[in-house]
Amino acid sequence: MSAWRHDDDRLNPTQRATLERLGAGRSERPRFAPEVAATLREELRERLAPIATRLRDDLYLNKYRLDRSLGCEARPEDNFEWTAPKARGLVGHKAIELSVMRRDAPDPLVLVDDAIGALVTEARGLGEWLGQQSESTVARVRAEANAHLVSFLETWPPIERSWVPVLEGTIVADFDRVRLSGRPDLTLGRAEGSIAGKVIVDFKTGRVHDVHVADLRFYALIDTLRVGTPPRLLVTSYLDSGTLWVESVTEDLLAATVDRVVDAAGRIATLQAGERDPLKRPSLACRWCSILEQCEEGSAFLRAARDEGSLDDEL
Ligand code: SF4
Repeated sequence: MSAWRHDDDRLNPTQRATLERLGAGRSERPRFAPEVAATLREELRERLAPIATRLRDDLYLNKYRLDRSLGCEARPEDNFEWTAPKARGLVGHKAIELSVMRRDAPDPLVLVDDAIGALVTEARGLGEWLGQQSESTVARVRAEANAHLVSFLETWPPIERSWVPVLEGTIVADFDRVRLSGRPDLTLGRAEGSIAGKVIVDFKTGRVHDVHVADLRFYALIDTLRVGTPPRLLVTSYLDSGTLWVESVTEDLLAATVDRVVDAAGRIATLQAGERDPLKRPSLACRWCSILEQCEEGSAFLRAARDEGSLDDEL
């Protein structure tokens, strides 16, 4: 029995709206035919098999590789470097994880400091970078991660243990030389037999974006293959505005995601096999491309976008 109801006056209006939007009684939850997952698996197996024979290397498809392979193939890999804004997101997510998992209820800044401390102790990746930064840089990360955590606490109801929360849980589906993998920020609930129950959540800031929607659909496909029953809802929670983007999982949505995965794997395989040159696909993402100045297609695309005002809409 949930301790929180959407009309509970201990919750603020946004928390109540979140609870009302995502909750569903057993009778309101969709039931999926038991063969849905098996059919998806069989289709992926059949369509990925001929692609796998052309792969030079085993293919690990996560949301970044998937988005990347369906975007511009000529864009060079970015040289990844940690910065305070990038660190903010990861530290903020770790602090959210602690806020859900700890049984005492410390103040947000205590959680942020514990998250930073745990990362620094690991002394690799972000932790190593944090350990080398000045007090001022760490303070900036701390402040921004704290804002991220407080936004979560203000827009979500307290997460109950009975909702089966899983934070940053890794999910995978294997097909011979192809592995699909994901790591949703949060999942709540679980299926009961063939009745869908799981809600998959990613936390973002900014505006609704096609890529955010596609990432969640990819997670839904992997989770369906793992569990055998699809999740119920996909949710992007925009913490800075307190808004939710919510989509119900359907068989059509999962079938379209299979097409997207096969398309991406096929493109990667034909490139690895040297069957074609990388294709340029200009988009608004050209703004962040390191070779924009030398790329006629990207520059022309952005000029046109600027002239019609669509670039301003995005900023
Ligand atoms: S500028 Fe755009 S089109 Fe050109 S290589 Fe970069 S991402 Fe591709």
